[in-house]
Amino acid sequence: MNTYFGGSLRALSITFRNIFRPAITEGMRGPEAHEERYRGSFALTHNEHGEEACIACQACAKICPSQVITVVAGPKKPSEATGKKRGWSEEFVINLQACILCGLCVQACPEDALVAVRPQERPGFSREDLVLTRDLIHFKRTIEQKLADMIYEGQWFDPLTDACMAFLESTQERVSGTIRLRLYKGNCTPEGRKSPNAVYDMSLATYTSDEDTYTHEAAKGFIDLWGLPIEVWARVGEKNAEGSS
Ligand code: SF4
Ligand code: SF4
Repeated sequence: MNTYFGGSLRALSITFRNIFRPAITEGMRGPEAHEERYRGSFALTHNEHGEEACIACQACAKICPSQVITVVAGPKKPSEATGKKRGWSEEFVINLQACILCGLCVQACPEDALVAVRPQERPGFSREDLVLTRDLIHFKRTIEQKLADMIYEGQWFDPLTDACMAFLESTQERVSGTIRLRLYKGNCTPEGRKSPNAVYDMSLATYTSDEDTYTHEAAKGFIDLWGLPIEVWARVGEKNAEGSS
């Protein structure tokens, strides 16, 4: 009985103590608070002459509130394209695990050398994301969850467990390759992946470069098809609105 009341009193005292504490997540930045150019990760760009645009001015590193940018400047040397002397970065690292995603570095860059990119362009830990097709990756997640549930519920000898295992094993037949990691001050950050079976093709992904081999006209067909249900939806809505007026 004493233990019961003692425990309850302790719990109540913790509750009362925390009621008056300021919420530590107050003001935490959500995705909607990111500035317009933020996309979740970063990439260095090239200038109009095809040279690395970064001049190693360190503006991004200086403004970074988390101090997670390391820029090692190389010796100044002339640009092959213009002949003008300019700075070059020998090493450029952003520790994404400590980055607070404020986007200040992108804003500060005088050369537009640092851009925010979509999260799916960020190297991940996984090789299979590089090798499998989109639908296979999505469906595999469903099967993974089902298999985890089957095992958790003790259904190891259920034929569905065997079927899930067989499916997952078949997805791994082409999964091979290497992941390049950076070990720095207690962090392990993936910096790149490659695989002989990769389905990621730069020439299809870089829509604006000269090496772009994607047939842009092909997009019209799938835009028409994917947009058809929305078009019909809008047409029906308009027709019904006219009928009721
Ligand atoms: S987004 Fe902010 S915290 Fe992250 S690297 Fe840039 S300046 Fe630093
Ligand atoms: S990315 Fe931009 S701001 Fe950062 S060092 Fe290079 S040129 Fe300077």
